[in-house]
Amino acid sequence: ALLGAAALLAAGMLRRPEAAPEAAPGDAFSAERALRHVREIARAPRPLGSAEHRRVRAHLVRELTGLGLTCEVQRATVVDESDGMRPGATVRIAADVANVVAVLPGAEGASRRPAVVLVAHYDTVPASPGANDNAVAVAALLETARALAGSRGKLANDVVFLFTDAEEIGQLGARAFVERHELRERIGVVLNFEARGSRGPALMFETGRNARAAYRHLERAAAHQYTSSLFREVYKRMPNATDFSAFERAGAPGFNFAHIGGYTHYHSASDTPEAVEPQTLQHHGSYALTLARRLGEADLAALRGAEGEETVFFTLPTGRLVRYPARWTVPLAAATAVVWLAALALLVRGRALDAGITALGAAAALLP
Ligand SMILES: [Zn+2]
Repeated sequence: ALLGAAALLAAGMLRRPEAAPEAAPGDAFSAERALRHVREIARAPRPLGSAEHRRVRAHLVRELTGLGLTCEVQRATVVDESDGMRPGATVRIAADVANVVAVLPGAEGASRRPAVVLVAHYDTVPASPGANDNAVAVAALLETARALAGSRGKLANDVVFLFTDAEEIGQLGARAFVERHELRERIGVVLNFEARGSRGPALMFETGRNARAAYRHLERAAAHQYTSSLFREVYKRMPNATDFSAFERAGAPGFNFAHIGGYTHYHSASDTPEAVEPQTLQHHGSYALTLARRLGEADLAALRGAEGEETVFFTLPTGRLVRYPARWTVPLAAATAVVWLAALALLVRGRALDAGITALGAAAALLP
C-alpha cells in the first residue's frame, strides 16, 4: 500500500497544464496557437549553413517584426577552441553564426535598465527536424512575444527574445551574444528553454548564480512545478551543455527549462511535429509568459546584485517549492542522525529492539 501511494504521489508530480485552444484569450498562452509555429519551423533539419536554416531565420524575423518588436540579426564569426563535448579531445571550429534578437520595449527609461532575456536556439543537428529540440521552445517564445506585445500597458523592463544559432555545435550563437552583442551589458535575468525528449513536464533543472533572489518569482510562476536541485547534480555529470552555460559564465541569474520524457526522439529523425505533446508546449509557455510578466516588473539590478549562494530545492507532491541554503545540508543530516540514534536508543532500552540484530541490519546496509 505504501509503495502504491508513493507511486501515485510521484505520478501526480508529473502533471502539466492542459493545452489552451486556438480561441484562448489573446493575453494568454495557447499551445494550439504555438503548434502552428512548430509545424512551420520543423519541416526539415536546419543545421548551420542549410537552406532550411535560412528559411526559418527569415520566418522568425518576419513574425517578430509583424508583432511590432524591433528585430535584428546579429552576425558574428566564432572560433571555438575548447574541449568541445568530449573532454580530452580538442575541437577547433570556426562558424559564421546569425542570432535573431528582438526587443519588446519596456516603459520609460527601460533602455538604461537590465532586461529580461528569453533564449531558445533555432538550429538543429543535421539528422533531425527538431520539432522538440528546439522548435517547441522557439514556438513558446513566439507565442509569449505575441501575448506580451498584444497586452495593454508596457512592462517596466525591456524583454529580449533571443533566438540563438549554432547551439548544437558548441553554443556558438549564445557565446557571440554574451561576448559581443551590445545588450550583453544589460542581461538582467535569463530564461533558457530546451528539450531532451518529446513529452513530460518542463523541468526547471538549472539555475544561474545569484539565483536565490530569483526563486521568489519562480515560486509563483506556474501552477504545476516539478523541479529539484538534484537534476542539476545529475546534469553536471552528463556531457550535454546548453546555451544557458554561456550566460551562467557571464554571471547572469536565471533558470534553464527542458522536458526529458520520450528521450528516444532526441536528435532523431523521428522528432517531428507529430511527436510534440501539446501539454509540454503549454508548460514551457506558461513558465515563459508568467515569468516574463513577473520579471518584467521586477528590480533586476537588485536581482543580479543579490549575493550568490548554492540552494537546495525540490517540489512537494502538492506543487509547493521547498528551498534552503546548501550550507544547511550537513547540519540537517547531523540532526537527522542524532534524532535517529536517540530513537534507536529508546527502543533498545525499552526492549522493542535487539541491539545486536539492529547493528547487524545497519552493517548490512553498507553492502548495497
Ligand atoms: Zn537543443
